[in-house]
Formats: sequence, structure tokens, C-alpha cells
Amino acid sequence: MPRAAVTIDEQDLERALLRKSVAGLAGGRSDCADCGRAPLVGETLHRYETGATVCELCRPLRRGEPVASERVRHSEYGNAVRVRRV
Ligand SMILES: [Zn+2]
Repeated sequence: MPRAAVTIDEQDLERALLRKSVAGLAGGRSDCADCGRAPLVGETLHRYETGATVCELCRPLRRGEPVASERVRHSEYGNAVRVRRV
């Protein structure tokens, strides 16, 4: 007895691909521990001894100094082709 062919709806496939790509973008990102906001490119993130990462807007709400601060880079940072002058 032949089995019925499984058909994939085009819109379901588009949704699945979109969800997969959005999840991939958020994979390496660290959100603010206080407000949960995703940091913007160029914004500075502050790391505290507790391991919490806090955005610039939430930093004044915390006591103490962060142990490290780093700027949020574009996802392609370091992968761009650069002209080297010798
Ligand atoms: Zn925040």
C-alpha cells in the first residue's frame, strides 16, 4: 500500500527558516541582566564580579564598579577585508 506523500506548506517553510535565522542571530548575544534588553551595536556593556552583564542605561542603578567594560561590536567585526599598506 503506497504511503501518502508528505507535503510542506510554503508559508510553514518560510516561518521555520525565519525562526531558525533569528535564533542564530541571538545565539552569541548577551542581554542586560537587569532590563533584559538586547544591547545595540556601539553600546558599552559592563560586567560585574557576580557575572552579571549590564547595559549603559542600567549601570547607574548598580553600586560598585564593573570589573570589565566592552563595546558591542557588529556581528561581522573582525571578518571584514582590510586594505594593508606596506
Ligand atoms: Zn539594562
